[in-house]
Amino acid sequence: MDERPLADSYGRVIRKVRVSVTDRCNFRCVYCMPSTPLWMPRNRILTFEEITRVVRILTRMGVVKVRLTGGEPLVRKGVEELVRGLSSISGVEQLAMTTNGFFLTEKASALKGAGLMAVTVSLPSLDRKRFERITGVDGLDRVLRGVDAALDEGFDPVKVNATIVRGLNDDEIIALAEYGAEKGIFVRFIEFMPFDSRGLWKPEFLVSWKDMLSKVKERFELMPLPREPGSTSLNYAFKDGGGVGFIASMTAPFCDDCERIRLTADGRLVPCMFGKLEFDMKPLLRGGAGDEELVSFIRTAVEKKERGVKYLLEKGEIPRHVRPMYTLGG
Ligand code: SAM
Ligand code: SF4
Repeated sequence: MDERPLADSYGRVIRKVRVSVTDRCNFRCVYCMPSTPLWMPRNRILTFEEITRVVRILTRMGVVKVRLTGGEPLVRKGVEELVRGLSSISGVEQLAMTTNGFFLTEKASALKGAGLMAVTVSLPSLDRKRFERITGVDGLDRVLRGVDAALDEGFDPVKVNATIVRGLNDDEIIALAEYGAEKGIFVRFIEFMPFDSRGLWKPEFLVSWKDMLSKVKERFELMPLPREPGSTSLNYAFKDGGGVGFIASMTAPFCDDCERIRLTADGRLVPCMFGKLEFDMKPLLRGGAGDEELVSFIRTAVEKKERGVKYLLEKGEIPRHVRPMYTLGG
């Protein structure tokens, strides 16, 4: 098998994959879902065997980090079995999940037992009523218990993500940072990206990472941390544990050392989340293709990875609504 590292035409080597295991979700976050989503037909969604096969092949090509996402990964029945299969692939060095946390209390122990290592919980508000307005579900208490369950199980790291939208939850930046300090974890603030399904995104709703950082600095002394190559986040530590991070996809994107690709729940390989290109692997997966064929398909797809949003923004182009976030998983 051709086991050269997987690289694109700009020389960026791919080491991480985000796998959306379902487009379905029990929440209807306003910045993500339409109010009445049209789900992918079930027979189009990759089986656990298909996902595991793709990930196994990717690890032979140099991918070492796998993040499961959705929709909401914990609504996929038996997802812990998928975790078990993926964690037994020898090349997988980190296996993580991004979840809305609603089902985490009951699932945390099984996920840990199956080999999941790290968990990121999305938490857009600490106010019960507002949480419900944003997500469509009165679930704040459950999500907070989910974070505690993840900490009790010893996932490492446990992080919290909050997508910030001006006028919706930007007045909670300090409160969310305080929550992180109290728990000793990192809270990462995500810039609002134009991938909501309701066409709400406007430049006015975007709070830049610099503005968010200034807010946090009003309350905390922060120590800047060196950026890991390929990381999407600019991180700052608190003095006594935990810290904040900023995912500045719209105002300071790190396209030049991007090392990530994505796999949608229905088997499309998406080299760049801001790019229009996607490559459907399902016909090969379901048409009896051998591993070599899949390897060369993946190589060709990755070679076409677009240069990135940084270069679109430089030309004054904002790539709006390329695809909704719930079909890609963030
Ligand atoms: N359901 C899981 C969750 O909410 O964590 C995983 C999928 S969700 C699409 C992944 C992340 O994308 C969440 O942290 C969510 O807040 C973020 N997200 C969704 N829509 C977004 C948007 N338009 N801009 C920025 N982040 C967004
Ligand atoms: Fe569901 Fe996550 Fe999208 Fe919210 S952000 S609707 S929890 S997929």
